[in-house]
Amino acid sequence: MSTPPDAQRMEKIVSLCKRRGFIFQSSEIYGGLNGLWDYGPLGVELKRNLKNYWWQVTVHERDDVVGMDGSILTHPAVLEASGHVEGFSDPMIDCRTCKAHLRADQLVEKKGVKQCPNCGGKDLTAPRQFNLMFETHVGAAADESSIAYLRPETAQSIFVQFKNVLEVSRKKLPFGIAQIGKAFRNEINPRNFTFRSREFEQMELEYFCRPEQGMELLEYWKEERLKFYANIGIPSTKLHVLTVPDEERAFYSKGTYDIEYDFPFGRQELEGVAYRTDYDLSQHQKASGKSLEYFDEETKQRFVPHVVEPSAGVDRTVLALICEAYSEDQAPDEKGKMETRIVLRFHPRIAPIKCAVFPLLKNKESLVSKAKEIVEILRPHMYVFYDESGAIGRRYRRQDEIGTPFGVTVDFETLGEKDAALRDTVTLRDRDSMKQERVAIQDLPAILRDRIA
Ligand code: ATP
Repeated sequence: MSTPPDAQRMEKIVSLCKRRGFIFQSSEIYGGLNGLWDYGPLGVELKRNLKNYWWQVTVHERDDVVGMDGSILTHPAVLEASGHVEGFSDPMIDCRTCKAHLRADQLVEKKGVKQCPNCGGKDLTAPRQFNLMFETHVGAAADESSIAYLRPETAQSIFVQFKNVLEVSRKKLPFGIAQIGKAFRNEINPRNFTFRSREFEQMELEYFCRPEQGMELLEYWKEERLKFYANIGIPSTKLHVLTVPDEERAFYSKGTYDIEYDFPFGRQELEGVAYRTDYDLSQHQKASGKSLEYFDEETKQRFVPHVVEPSAGVDRTVLALICEAYSEDQAPDEKGKMETRIVLRFHPRIAPIKCAVFPLLKNKESLVSKAKEIVEILRPHMYVFYDESGAIGRRYRRQDEIGTPFGVTVDFETLGEKDAALRDTVTLRDRDSMKQERVAIQDLPAILRDRIA
């Protein structure tokens, strides 16, 4: 059972994202452009931490995966061979009553009659195919010969560069090529905040193998990807693996899993893990006339490798991280009265800011200079934030609201004014428990590094 949609929670999350600078509507001052979003100062940090962690575990920590970064503008022949020019489309229907443009699968059916989900209208157009790719022209001539597409997925540049990457990396099967980058789809109905956007980023791995290894590797990558989500703070109880039924799977795929997450607006796909057989490489081999075969030196066999593809959305994962982290609890204010605290409980590994540093009072030079010294000590190790304005309780709250896991306060003990034994120690506050411990400044980098890793 998926959890019921929680519209109120989602509204609070969208509002927090704007208020604290995670995500803004694109071109907002001109009224916005539907399905496009800009990441603010904190959103960009969160996104970068997610991508860096994916790259670390997918590429750097493995011997069998290398990376690449392909161009966004794509030769039409690539997307003709992959089937996107012909088939990357959604059947679309218009409601003549309220003029809504709808995907055919979004209509509601009452007593066997299809209706518009917005107005209940039954006066609908016949379905027509709508290609989701953005088309542009390369060079001065804007005619058929200059058409190029903004890539609808990062995967195709990996397939097209398979031979080059194989030669330079000298890898043996099984091995993978990873890529993180932008993809574009002219979605008919962008919705649910950033969940369905027209411009988004993907983290894709094409893991090439022998045909007989495909099914086993599909299971392996599904498990690896589930571990990944646990390691960034998305609990397994909120994730669901859907085995895509035969009739809904791409015809060339021998097995596909969708990894879904319980968003406040319902259970939805975060990532697809698909065994795509040798379809993509074979298509490009046929269309280009260039061999994309692999030569096995041991068996002296030549064949087109098969591939397993875990394909995750950066923006959808960022949204899941924010939804998962958002919580409200009760905490005492300056006068000890309980108030509602908004806190983003990000895993320290992906939190935008790792540690905030505060002097207890901003008008006491010795506290301020000590706090700034600590900022300099921590800066080479992590992203830190210095804040001296307002009461200390308010400063903690501001950091709780953006998910900073640790807060360091420089007080009079730090200066050794009350007890010489406490000189050069600070309080270290934990965002979730709100507990404070006293630690030596010189131990701070190691303690924090350990808790963030
Ligand atoms: P959906 O069924 O939700 O449209 P899809 O099955 O078409 O997604 P894939 O083609 O498998 O998606 O793309 C892989 C991943 O890319 C998805 O799991 C998702 O995380 C991300 N993605 C795809 N389309 C979008 C989009 N319009 N906005 C944001 N992320 C997207």
